[in-house]
Amino acid sequence: MAKKFHLPTRMCVACRSRDKQNNLVRLQCKDGELDCFNGLGRSFYLCKECLLDEKKLSKALMRTCKSNKKDNLMNKLKEIITDDR
Ligand SMILES: [Zn+2]
Repeated sequence: MAKKFHLPTRMCVACRSRDKQNNLVRLQCKDGELDCFNGLGRSFYLCKECLLDEKKLSKALMRTCKSNKKDNLMNKLKEIITDDR
């Protein structure tokens, strides 16, 4: 039996599907505000498919950030994902 090579996977908070880390966007919430992950604190992941689904996204973000400022969260998210680094 060949040993299965196991790549680390992470779960998308919106659809709960697992994918390789490099297929996901890593984000964090700080005091109810969305931010890109800076290496500190808790983070979560979103898959590229969910990034295209605003309805699903806004729900997941509000739940994850415990915030109801949907427009804030969505605007910040767009800022982060269009800022290609
Ligand atoms: Zn997803």
